[in-house]
Amino acid sequence: MSRLKKIETDKDSSGVKKPRKGRKEMINVTGMRDILPQDQKYWQAVSKVAEKVADDYGYGRIETPILEYTEVFARGIGKQTDIVEKEMYAFEDSGGDNLAMRPEGTAAIIRSYIQHGMINQIQPVKLFYAGPMFRHDKPQSGRYRQFYQFGYEAIGEPNPALDAQLILMGWNCLNELGLESVVQVNSIGCPTCREEFKKALVKYYKPKTKQLCESCQRRLIKNPLRLLDCKEEGCQKFKDGAPQILDYLDEECKKHFMKVLEYLDELDLPYVLNSQIVRGLDYYTRTIFEYWSNDDSEGKSAMGGGGRYDGLAEILGGRENTPGVGFSMGMDRIVSKLREKEINVTETYQPEIFVAQLGESAKKKTFVVYEKLRKKGFKVAQAFYKDNLKTQLELANKLKVKFTLILGQKEVGEGTILVRDMEGGIQEVVDFNKIENDIAKRLDKWHQQKLEKFTAPEEGDMPEVRPKGEKRAKDLEDFNDEADSNFEGAYGGGDAMFSGDNEDY
Ligand SMILES: [Zn+2]
Ligand SMILES: [Zn+2]
Repeated sequence: MSRLKKIETDKDSSGVKKPRKGRKEMINVTGMRDILPQDQKYWQAVSKVAEKVADDYGYGRIETPILEYTEVFARGIGKQTDIVEKEMYAFEDSGGDNLAMRPEGTAAIIRSYIQHGMINQIQPVKLFYAGPMFRHDKPQSGRYRQFYQFGYEAIGEPNPALDAQLILMGWNCLNELGLESVVQVNSIGCPTCREEFKKALVKYYKPKTKQLCESCQRRLIKNPLRLLDCKEEGCQKFKDGAPQILDYLDEECKKHFMKVLEYLDELDLPYVLNSQIVRGLDYYTRTIFEYWSNDDSEGKSAMGGGGRYDGLAEILGGRENTPGVGFSMGMDRIVSKLREKEINVTETYQPEIFVAQLGESAKKKTFVVYEKLRKKGFKVAQAFYKDNLKTQLELANKLKVKFTLILGQKEVGEGTILVRDMEGGIQEVVDFNKIENDIAKRLDKWHQQKLEKFTAPEEGDMPEVRPKGEKRAKDLEDFNDEADSNFEGAYGGGDAMFSGDNEDY
């Protein structure tokens, strides 16, 4: 079915809406949307942090195709899961192949690991990915059918230290973006101990069938673990009395999980043991975890999660007992959290200089000036397609540049160029051949002033970006004040703000 929205009205020159016939405006597919230039700063901020964390921990980037054989996901994620049953964009192509658009990253990465014999490399093979995923989910606020994830997978190593480090990496990603989160950790054991647990769950929930929501009635038969995951109020009340997976873990699984927790304790990051998280996918074994925003106590919009998947490679035709662990983060959710919390991210494109011209010969010369400045690394903007100087200055103003360089007929003749300070409106004549040095000096001075303004004590609002040394110094001041006025409070209570950080000072 074609999705064309008919344009009912249009505005005439006086701004009055009037009907306009015969034109149809194309719109995007439901659940998919454009990420516009003005929003890119959020996405780029998230990408940058994701890449930095990958670098910091030695994860190499991998790109797998959007399309895979449906079998990769059906086998990997599990035929009984909502994703594979209902949400996957799967189709037969004109060649008769059954293909699916990737609904998540892990299964395809394991497919790649097996296909390229990565088992012969040093283990674990540590991989990082980022890109769009596709699920034909109910479109609702904050959920998209084309959504974006980044994630990390460490394949080939069962050691629980790896689980703990990955958990930390995800937390670091959020923390570096200024988002506070609490990690929810659980173990769902291996298939052996989980079987016992599933039986116990079914036994507990069966007598309550009629009180459960429709999905849960289905889950009871197909995927009892997910009963614990239900966000419906009617089902929530049964959770507390439900059997706990931790009571069903065998010795090996228990030992593994205890180690993970021990390392987490060492790392001093906020986590809670949450026996009710199960994750939606079949491939998980042992450790699983989710990142909940610290203002989201029910995990209604977890920002990411993952876990161990020791059986996945084998399911996809790889070697038996190939362990793996990883997690993914939802970029859409993170971006909306950044907006909700009004966290400032740096503008991706913020020019500092505008090059304006008046007259044909000036225009030709400014082309050259622009290229010179650009190549030297100045952040410079222009509108050579405009002839009117006023229009150009208005644009420079909108772009919030600090300086505009103006070249007119007169300046060309004299071998000069005007430097206009956009804040004060003061213009100075500068030797055309010395403009690079001149503008560099002016920008340096301006940057210096900005920095001083940021750190001046009488400034009321806190700067977004401070040099590290300044931040420490300021924190130390607060610390001393606190310690003077309330010695007991600062030391005796083990105040979380100060714990563990004291050696730093
Ligand atoms: Zn087990
Ligand atoms: Zn339910």
